[in-house]
Amino acid sequence: MCQNPNEAKLNPSHFEGSNEEQQTAQEVEGGFAAYTQGMKFFDPHVHMTSRTTDDYQALADAGVVAIIEPAFWLGQPRTGLASFKDYFASLVGWERFRSSQFGIKHYCTIGLNSREANNEALAEEVMDILPLFLQKEGVVGVGEIGFDDQTAAEEKYYRAQLELAKEMGLPVQVHTPHRDKKKGTERSMAIALEHGLAPNMVVIDHNNEETVKSVLDQGFYAAFTIYPFTKMGNERMVEIVKHYGSERIMVNSAADWGISDPLAIPKTAALMKIKGISSVDIQKVTYQNALDSFAQSGQINEKDFIHGLEIDQSLKFNGNTVLRGGQAPRVDKNSIFIR
Ligand SMILES: [Zn+2]
Repeated sequence: MCQNPNEAKLNPSHFEGSNEEQQTAQEVEGGFAAYTQGMKFFDPHVHMTSRTTDDYQALADAGVVAIIEPAFWLGQPRTGLASFKDYFASLVGWERFRSSQFGIKHYCTIGLNSREANNEALAEEVMDILPLFLQKEGVVGVGEIGFDDQTAAEEKYYRAQLELAKEMGLPVQVHTPHRDKKKGTERSMAIALEHGLAPNMVVIDHNNEETVKSVLDQGFYAAFTIYPFTKMGNERMVEIVKHYGSERIMVNSAADWGISDPLAIPKTAALMKIKGISSVDIQKVTYQNALDSFAQSGQINEKDFIHGLEIDQSLKFNGNTVLRGGQAPRVDKNSIFIR
């Protein structure tokens, strides 16, 4: 749900920048690790269900210690409640296990995404099962919810889920629309305030230069998605942090089944370092602010991942393993990162 082919033109990435910018971008692509030694990252928006074990390994190698996987759509509409149920169950089950096998702490947010809110009969059924899943361990918010086409049905279920978040004391992860972004973002914030949510309990996602000021001025968290070729390029993100500082700003990869880069955060951190952003500011926008905002759920304990997870690939989840026949499990009780 995070893609729009037209946006490539509207938001050119750093690859279309000056020669110097292109050179730096290439350096970051291939050699970011040289700049991010010892850094730890928290990606608050990544759809790992759509990604491979290679991606998990790369994230672990790059210093990503914790992630949040928001519930979203699958690229095509679901046709029944059972597929929502199984998907939510997989986010707190198999996917969390898979992540643990690479030493990465996996959290998720649960919600009815904006696109599928437009199937009202099904949306009603999904609303009934949300409280059950929102109570589960490691569920750190209601998300990703909000507007896509900005229809009446989307608004109805956005409002209903804001109420649910308020009742349950959970943060909200708001997907802002790609079309009419400014209007959709303002509307998302106004409705959240109308429902009495504290702005610091709401993370407004997929910001750009047009939306960031208002989001920060009103006290919300502002998340930025770094997508290759679309949305925010890393260069633009650097400019935003230079201009607005690091308070309540966070970056994410929003990597999913489309063209995207799960390593967007470490790469952006490397570019920030090259461009002279302070280590304190880099740590805030690539780790701390994501942690602080979603830890308000009471479901995140930094001690669980700050020193790395114990990796034991001999473990199984419901009898299943990430290993294939003949592969030796890694058992690495004291490791910080997988090497
Ligand atoms: Zn997403």
